[in-house]
Amino acid sequence: MPRLALVGAGTNAHPDGRLPAGDFPERSSVPRMLSLDAHGRILDWMHWQDAACLYVRGAVAWTLGDPCLTVHGGINRWSGLRSEISLHPIVAARGHAHPRALDPSPALTNSALFARDASLCMYCGKEYGRHSLTRDHVVPLSRGGRDTWENVVCACFHCNSRKGGRTPQQASMPLLAVPYRPSWVEHLILSNRHILAEQMAFLKHHLPKRARLQA
Ligand SMILES: [Zn+2]
Repeated sequence: MPRLALVGAGTNAHPDGRLPAGDFPERSSVPRMLSLDAHGRILDWMHWQDAACLYVRGAVAWTLGDPCLTVHGGINRWSGLRSEISLHPIVAARGHAHPRALDPSPALTNSALFARDASLCMYCGKEYGRHSLTRDHVVPLSRGGRDTWENVVCACFHCNSRKGGRTPQQASMPLLAVPYRPSWVEHLILSNRHILAEQMAFLKHHLPKRARLQA
């Protein structure tokens, strides 16, 4: 595997378009590639290094969209030219699908939960910063509630402590929305703040019909 460095990024990633070798932009500003299997099933987000490995190994089955990032490798001993690879926003790899491809359940982390509920307290409806939000168990753990997507909501400190160890009904604090388990595609949309237009169009096309996330 040759050493690879980021050369240039598309308009979505860096205003200069070209970067000197070894000068890495903020990790979060570099777009990630959407990884698919050869059948077009959606796998996960992929960092450019992993995508470049697929290209170098000849393991790319097909791609979608215009190149969004260029990386360069070593200098060819014979030609003296530096190799360049253009990475595409959506990359399907050869080989067998990872078992996780079959709509796995996204991990229930606070980040994922706050993203699902759009950082809104599900009791007072106000929007809060990450540090003012908590994970509230609708049916409290002390009453046999479980730590699952269907039993947790985003709540502000104030509402969470006011509710205490009671159910919404007991506390007379009705929920503004019913908690649900996001599909894998919803999770991918919610977990990446720098989704390229072509990736978003592709993901939205694969959203389940019932998905709440249609905006
Ligand atoms: Zn609240």
